Parts: sequence; structure tokens; C-alpha cells
Amino acid sequence: MPHSHPAWLVRTTLALLFLAMCGTSLLLWKQLEDAQQERIRDRVGYQARTLATELENNLIDEVDGLRRMALLWNHRGRIPRDEWNLEANFALEHFPGYQSIQWMGADLRMRWVLPEQGNEAAIGFRLTRNHPNFNLAMQAKASGKAQLSNSFALVQGGRGFVLYTPLYIRDEQSDRSFDGFLQGVFRVETLMDELLTGLDNQDFSVLLLESGRSIYHQEQPESLPSLSQRVPLHLLNNSNFSLQLSPTPKLVEQLRSPLPQVVLGASLLTSLLLVAALVLALENARRASALQAGYRRLNEEVSQREHVEQDLRESRERLQLVLDLTDSSEDGLFIFDLANREVLHMNRATHAGLGYSAEAFRQLLKEDPEQLLPGFHAWLELVRQARRDGDSGIFQRQMRRADDSLQAAEISAQMVSLNGRDYLIGVSRDNRERLELEARLQRLSQQDGLTGLYNRRYFDRQLNGEWRRLRRLGAPLALLMLDVDHFKAYNDRLGHQAGDDALRQVAQALQQSLQREGDVACRYGGEEFAIILANTAEDGARHVAERVMAQVAALAIEHPASPEGYLTLSIGIAISDPAREDQPDSLVSRSDAALYRAKHEGRNRTCLWEKGQG
Ligand code: GH3
Ligand code: MG
Ligand code: MG
Repeated sequence: MPHSHPAWLVRTTLALLFLAMCGTSLLLWKQLEDAQQERIRDRVGYQARTLATELENNLIDEVDGLRRMALLWNHRGRIPRDEWNLEANFALEHFPGYQSIQWMGADLRMRWVLPEQGNEAAIGFRLTRNHPNFNLAMQAKASGKAQLSNSFALVQGGRGFVLYTPLYIRDEQSDRSFDGFLQGVFRVETLMDELLTGLDNQDFSVLLLESGRSIYHQEQPESLPSLSQRVPLHLLNNSNFSLQLSPTPKLVEQLRSPLPQVVLGASLLTSLLLVAALVLALENARRASALQAGYRRLNEEVSQREHVEQDLRESRERLQLVLDLTDSSEDGLFIFDLANREVLHMNRATHAGLGYSAEAFRQLLKEDPEQLLPGFHAWLELVRQARRDGDSGIFQRQMRRADDSLQAAEISAQMVSLNGRDYLIGVSRDNRERLELEARLQRLSQQDGLTGLYNRRYFDRQLNGEWRRLRRLGAPLALLMLDVDHFKAYNDRLGHQAGDDALRQVAQALQQSLQREGDVACRYGGEEFAIILANTAEDGARHVAERVMAQVAALAIEHPASPEGYLTLSIGIAISDPAREDQPDSLVSRSDAALYRAKHEGRNRTCLWEKGQG
């Protein structure tokens, strides 16, 4: 997980950045705005100066007619009245700003006035020393230069100016002599209106100041006094004037450049976009890292799954190997689903041992299990019971082979429940050989090696068993004890090997003498034998003894050391009623005693134990 700042810190930083950028934008805007104000002031000043200059020039142009008349006067001499009228009218028509054009004679008395109408008061006027313009007029006379007066109260009424243009004529000596003033009289309002009309001024409210005093104003709507500028105004030679000009909003608007606003808007927008871009970038980075984390998790899952699959594959391969190995087992190994008797697995021995193909075995188990394993359902119950009781679950059963014969099978079966289903795991073994072996061992363990008769151990067990059995039945038990006569001598004369052969023949004869099931002949030890006859009394026992004697005699085994010349034996019989006796031991001793008596009485005979014999 890469290191990441907390969201609030990022957000605050972005907000601060945004505010800082907005502040910078405003600062920049303020500077531009200030610069713009300065520029507007400059431009207004320039415009104002231009207006003043134009106004000055305008006046110069307009009064040029007077200058030309004066030049004419000075050059040609006094102009006749009607010609003067012509010139003056021309000038008046040309410039409506005039109140009048008039000639004042050298005696400072008014001579000619045009137009007469409206200027009646001027006719006959005389300039005296106490007139405010007297000095100015004298100055003009002395310098020969036209002089414009300050404003003063006109005799016609109202305030106005007078332009004094001195006139001269030459006398006979060619000397120049003063011939009065050609005067242009102007009303302040009319003059200014005319001059301004000529300039077509709509950009400024105009205030005309004379020595700082307002004498004329022309208003434009909504003009801005805050931006007003005062510029000096030289009306001809008179410098007592100034113009105070206030620009109209329209002019300011024309001068104003939208740059500050554009810059402000643009830089605010840029700030916003930049911050938005940063936000997006951060969001993107956050998403990318989340995505990366997702990828990593996915990768881990994938590799984990690969591991699991690998493990699964390996364990499947191992399982397959184990299952394949079970094929080499002689024992059948099978697992089947009890619900539908479907075989999940079986090795080869399971079906091949019985002569079936795998398919035939599966089918038979599914369709007719009783045929395959007689008592199948009862057996399943036993298996279940064994599981409940915790028993081992080894069963000796029979299975039907493909050739319809039955085969003993030892089945070790285990019931297993998995996910709510019952499975049966079984190991079956072909039991025939083992059973035969067991039987053989059993036989061997109770058989005498030399003669094939039962041995002494079996004799003891059999005698006890029969004793208890007959005791319950209340039936008699007869015991015959037999001993070969002069057998030591036989061995001594004919050899031990021949002795063994003889014992085998005698044993065979004994076996052939027994006719009833349950009669048992045993080798009691050495050359002694015993015959147990169940449920047999004295007569029966004598019969058997006689048959034995006859059989042995029939063998006709030569015995050179016997008085008979042939091998003979002696028999002792004892009969017991087990119901009335405690132990079979006395029966043995009694039959022994009877045998002893037979020996004693001359051998090759049978003796029955009788009471009182001891
Ligand atoms: P009697 O008539 O009194 O019985 O005389 P006997 O010689 O048979 O006497 P005894 O019973 O004492 O002798 C038993 C002899 O039987 C001894 C032994 O040489 C012989 N014998 C015992 N067991 C075997 C055996 O398994 N094989 C052989 N060849 N001889 C045996
Ligand atoms: Mg003996
Ligand atoms: Mg003997």
C-alpha cells in the first residue's frame, strides 16, 4: 500500500491553493485596473488638451476674417463703408459666434456696427479709461497686435469678449498712424457653443474658467467629475482661461480596455481549471492505486488458486497412483454409493477375481445385488449394526462367480457417511485358500504325523467334549485302549523303520474298523491307540474291538519275536455313564487297567473293565 495523505489534508491544501490563486488573480486584476485608470486619465487628458487646442485653433480660424480685414485696412487705407459692410457681413455669416463686428475710431468712439439689430446699445459707445478693457486696448494699439479681452459685461447685456485689432493708415509722409480698432464682439455662451459645435464635442462636459472662475458650462449627460481634468486654454493672446473637462461614461467606456476583466475571468477560470485538474489527477491517482491494489489482490488470488489447482492436480495424480496401485493388489478394493449402489471405485481384483468384467460387475451390483452376494440386504444391515456397535466389520460371505459357482469371500466392510451420503468401503478377499490352509492347519494340529490318526491332544479334547455332551444326553461312552504286543521286540528285530510302517498299517486298520459317524480313533502315544465310541455301551464296544482284532489279523504282519508269529494287539475296554461320574479321567484309567489285564492274561485279547478289578 503506497503512502497516502489523509483526504482532509489534500482537500484543505487544494482549497488554500485555490484561494491563493484567486487572491493572485484579484491582485493582478487590481494592478491592471489601476494601470487602466491611469491610462484612462492620460487619454482623457490628451483628449482634453486636444479639445482645448482645437478650440484655440478654431477661434484663430474663425476670427481670421477680422485679421484679413485689418490687413486690407492697413494696406490700402481706410476701407469705404459699403466694402467694410460686405467684408464684415461675410465674416458674420461665416462664423455665427460673433455678437457683432464693429469699428471704433482712433478717438475710441464707436463708428460702424454690424449687425445693427441687437447691438443698438453699442452705437455711439466710447471707450473710456475706466472701461475694463481700456488698458488692453491701449496695449493692442501700442503693440500693433490683436488682443482678446477678459469677459466683461457687454453694453448689449450679458457677458462677452472683445477682440481688439488695431488699425493703421499711412499719411502723406508714409508714416503709420493709428486708425482705431476693428472689434469682434462675442457673447461667452454663443462663442463657446459655436466653437464646441464646430468641434462636435460629445465626449466631455465642458466648464470654462476664467482666472479660476466658471463663466460657461456645457453639460453632457452623466459625465464623470471624478475623472475631470483641467487644461489651460489660450484664447488668442489671452491665457487667463482654462477648461475643466469631465469625460462621459461613453468615452471612458471607449478608452477602457476589457483586459483586466478578461484577465481576471481568465485567471479565475484557470485557477478553477487547475484546481479541478489537480482534483481529477488526485482522484485518478487514488483510483489508480485502488485499481492497482485490486490487481494485486486478484493476482494473489490467481496464484493462490494456481497453487490450489496444482495441489489438487498432484493429489489427484497421487490418488490415481494409489488407485492404480490397488490394481496390483490380490484383494478386491471397492467403494460404492449405498443410495444407488453405484460403484465409485473398484480395483481389478474386485471383479476379475470373480470372473466378471468391470462393466458386468457394476451392472450386477446395481441391478441384482442378491445374485452377486447372497443375503446382500441382510448383510448391509449387519454392516450398519457393526458400525453402530463399533465392531470390526469383517464378514465371511459367499459371492457368486461369473460361472455361477459360489466363492468364499472375507469382506472387510466399513460404512462411511460423507455430506449426508452413505458409502461402503470394502476389501474382499478370495477365502478359499486361506480356509483350506486353516483347515489343514487345524487338521495338522490335531493329527498324528506318523499315522494320520487324531493325536493325543485331540483325544483329550474330544473325550472331554463327548463326555459333556453325553452327560447331557444321559448316554454311555465307551473307551478302547489298544497297545501293540511285543513291539519293542519287533523294533529290535526288524528295525525302527519297519516299526513305523507297522504302526501306520495298524492305524489304518483301526480307522477301517470304525463305522459310525462320531467314532474317533487316536494315537495315544508310542504304539498305544485309543478309540472313543460315543453313545456306545458294552456290546457295541466289544463289536468294535472284535472288528479291530479281525482287521489287524487280516494285515498278517509277520512278527518273528512274537509267539503268534504275527503282529497282534491287546485291547482294554471301559464303559462310562457320564451322568453318574464327575471326570472322564477314571474312564481312561479304567480302560488302561483293562488293557493291563489283557496283557497280563496273555496278550492278543480284549478285556472289559469290571467292578472290583481296581
Ligand atoms: P508288551 O507286549 O508288553 O506291550 O511289550 P512291548 O514290547 O510292546 O512293551 P512296551 O510297550 O514297553 O514297548 C514299547 C515299545 O514300542 C518301545 C518302543 O521300542 C516301541 N515304540 C514305541 N513307539 C514307537 C514308534 O513310534 N515307532 C517304533 N518303531 N517303535 C515304537
Ligand atoms: Mg506299550
Ligand atoms: Mg506294547
